[in-house]
Amino acid sequence: YFKLENKDLFFYSTKSSSSHKGMHNLSGVFLKKNEPVMIQKKKYYTFSLIFPNKIRTYYTDINYEYATWISSLSQSLNPKNLFELYDIKEGIGKGKFGFVKRAIHKKTKEEYAIKIMPKDSMTLQDLELAQTEINIMKICQHPNIIKLYDIYESADFIYIIMEYCKGGDLFSYLEKRRFKLSEYRGAEIIHKLSMALYYIHSFNIVHRDLKPENILMTDTSEEADIRLVDFGLSKIIYPNEKMIEPYGTLSYVAPEVLLEEPYDQSADLWSLGVVTYLLLSGYLPFDDKNSEREIARKTIQEEPKYTEGMFMLVSKKGKEFVKGLLKKNPTERMTIEEVLTHDWFKKYGLVPKERFNDIEKEKGNQFILYTSNIINSI
Ligand code: ATP
Ligand code: MG
Repeated sequence: YFKLENKDLFFYSTKSSSSHKGMHNLSGVFLKKNEPVMIQKKKYYTFSLIFPNKIRTYYTDINYEYATWISSLSQSLNPKNLFELYDIKEGIGKGKFGFVKRAIHKKTKEEYAIKIMPKDSMTLQDLELAQTEINIMKICQHPNIIKLYDIYESADFIYIIMEYCKGGDLFSYLEKRRFKLSEYRGAEIIHKLSMALYYIHSFNIVHRDLKPENILMTDTSEEADIRLVDFGLSKIIYPNEKMIEPYGTLSYVAPEVLLEEPYDQSADLWSLGVVTYLLLSGYLPFDDKNSEREIARKTIQEEPKYTEGMFMLVSKKGKEFVKGLLKKNPTERMTIEEVLTHDWFKKYGLVPKERFNDIEKEKGNQFILYTSNIINSI
């Protein structure tokens, strides 16, 4: 037997028990309606609650009870109405699940981006990934990582309210400049991205889908700042743990991931190498117009060209930097610490030393700080 009180779900062993056996707090939990199931010739109505680390499914054979649970849960998961607070404007992007729209906070007039995910088109596993994505965004507070402001949920949608980046993604930034950037600007962008990577890796998070489409520009100016987005494929892994799931995007994904070998944070460093190569030369290091197989084969077997085309004009330090990242063998690849202290950055005065320490100092406080924000706002 279950009893819902505000955001707390108490459970009892019998209907008449006076003391509960336990309680689950539903802050940040998603609700998913499921299709009814037949169990021993009896029809059961069911829904699942997706907790940060567990999915629980509930059953009732009484239809009106089911309806009451759905409406009560929706209300307690979502006490305020999103549409009373925000004016939802035009679409600004499309993701795997649903879309991203611009929104204006009615009181403050500030702009936000809202990612809207329809739950009926998502499986329980998809919802679990969305849960991970939100948890990662909650943990991460870094100048080059997209800020999460709030989360709303209705019976049918999840709404993620985040900082709005008006400048579009890094890919269109490059397109607008015909894929020509100065080496200094390339180094500056890669340095910011490396700082963001150092930060997430220090929380044992692997991004797994690092590419220009997932790097947003804060405004349309030449010097726009960058924000890393899309933690939909990211994962928190324990030190020394390796993953084997084939994730990522072809052209940017590391050879060990393609080969389905165990991999870790160093797979993100390969992708950083591919993005750097693209920024400095205007083209991808492993590419083929007609065949995806060829892209995969080149990633696994071929050395990129360092002495042809635009890449020829790159400085010695810049070449060294990219070569250090595009090592097929992940154990030979530069580490994120080697990246941040590389001479290529030093040459442009991009030094991270104090920031390194700041991150270490801040780490302890981060989660607590952010948790209290979230609790205030939901
Ligand atoms: P995919 O896996 O296909 O990249 P996704 O479901 O993970 O999609 P996102 O990458 O997070 O979705 O968002 C989709 C697109 O929406 C982005 O490529 C970007 O163009 C736009 N977008 C996302 N977040 C923001 C934001 N905060 N500000 C501005 N635009 C955004
Ligand atoms: Mg994306």
